[in-house]
Amino acid sequence: MGLREYKSKREFEKTPEPKPEVRPEGDQLTFVVHKHAARNLHYDLRLELDGVLKSWAVPKGPSLAPSIKRLAMMVEDHPFDYKDFEGVIPEGNYGAGSVIIWDRGFYSHPAAKDKKDSEKLLREGLKKGDLKFVLNGEKLQGEFALVRMRKDEKSWLLIKKKDRYASEVSILKESRSAVSGKTLEKVAEAGTGKSFRQKKVKQIRLSEALEEEDLKDAPLSPMPHNIKPMLATLAKKPFDHPDWVFEMKWDGYRAIAEIRDGDVSLYSRNRISLTQKFLPVADSLRDLGFDAVLDGEIVVVDDQGRPDFQLLQDYRKSKSGHLLYYVFDLLHFRGHDLTNLPLLRRKELLKKILPSSPKIKFSDHVLKEGVLFFNVVKGKELEGIIAKHSQSVYQMGKRSREWLKVKARLTQECVIAGFTEPGAGRKYFGSLVLGVYEGDELKYIGHSGGGFSERDLKAIFNKLKPLVQKECPFTIKPDTNTADTWVKCEVTFTGWTEDGIMRQPVFLRLREDKTAREVVRENDS
Ligand code: MN
Repeated sequence: MGLREYKSKREFEKTPEPKPEVRPEGDQLTFVVHKHAARNLHYDLRLELDGVLKSWAVPKGPSLAPSIKRLAMMVEDHPFDYKDFEGVIPEGNYGAGSVIIWDRGFYSHPAAKDKKDSEKLLREGLKKGDLKFVLNGEKLQGEFALVRMRKDEKSWLLIKKKDRYASEVSILKESRSAVSGKTLEKVAEAGTGKSFRQKKVKQIRLSEALEEEDLKDAPLSPMPHNIKPMLATLAKKPFDHPDWVFEMKWDGYRAIAEIRDGDVSLYSRNRISLTQKFLPVADSLRDLGFDAVLDGEIVVVDDQGRPDFQLLQDYRKSKSGHLLYYVFDLLHFRGHDLTNLPLLRRKELLKKILPSSPKIKFSDHVLKEGVLFFNVVKGKELEGIIAKHSQSVYQMGKRSREWLKVKARLTQECVIAGFTEPGAGRKYFGSLVLGVYEGDELKYIGHSGGGFSERDLKAIFNKLKPLVQKECPFTIKPDTNTADTWVKCEVTFTGWTEDGIMRQPVFLRLREDKTAREVVRENDS
């Protein structure tokens, strides 16, 4: 083949790649495997023969498992000096992107006595379309074969022969250069052109995360829009079980993120847009650079890392606290519908593709040990845990029993139906009259007079004032001994309760992410 094609594809004043020179050397034959982040991440197997490097691009990389056949596309011969090339091929050049020497060493024909003999047998093998060779590298060792496919001259299969080096363990996990120890990402970071470099680094990270990941069991399907998240059923007690995983129950806004062609839409469980409200999260999601639908919780944590719901509700105005999006599920990814994959598989994939970012976090889980995890959470006065069956599929909009929430402190959401006059020494109102919906009927569940700060009293009163109405919103008017002022049921709040019974709930916070009609009694089961 010679080096004419190699030469014709390159301008040597614009690329650091070696000039085309034939340069046989030494008494052993050299091989090299480059890992190359061009448009697609791939591996290039290069075998020295007659002073040049015979080359094959292997899209999925070599494998040590004899059962796996990897497609290897024969490409132009490369000069012998290419064995030492590691670096960045600049933007605009052929094969632009970063290259590392993933593996390097000597090789020979299995039946050959010396280099000359090897070359003769290899030349014959090449011609026949059945090339046998033994690699002695840092990562690849033992006998391999390259077998030409019938369909065309360029398509070959790279196959590991059965010997003591055969293995089912993925060798591609060893991702560093055999020469410098650098990763592809590290090499790419040294490249020129800021945007090209950033794009490449992001692309490398994602391609490496997805290496050997096939989504054959997740069908291609259009990305869903405006979905309703899957919901958890309230459970009384934590438990241990090998088939379940346990996550933190974050005290924030449940939020779905749709990332589509660089556009981000972030919305609540009622499909109220949160994109503008939490713009820094949306911006970070845009930077991910892939299409996906994510499920998670937006929280604002204080300096101790504890989620603070009040900081969250005030975030747009105050900008105080640290805004985070804890992502716990992946529903759609690069055109694939993942909702029918088992939860654990979705979470593993999510963990792989989510880079560490200041605003976006993978919400981790523990396996099996629900009780211990719950006790830790409770000890830290956090909200509770969510138990999920590790094989559960994602059922949009459904409150499932394969997802269970266990609260460290019992809370109840209530609709504010009215208020009473303040007593002496207090401003705005005395207590709130509360209800929950049962079907279409609003049922009285109690008064709440405790837990309000001066600021809460004022804020709630200002919200209620424009909603005052003559009509009592309860279907059955509660028998109370105070003169109540009724309001239109729009404001909801969460209160602490004891034993799950709505006795004298203590005000915790207003909720802006739920509508009144969604407020029902929390039934445990
Ligand atoms: Mn290449």
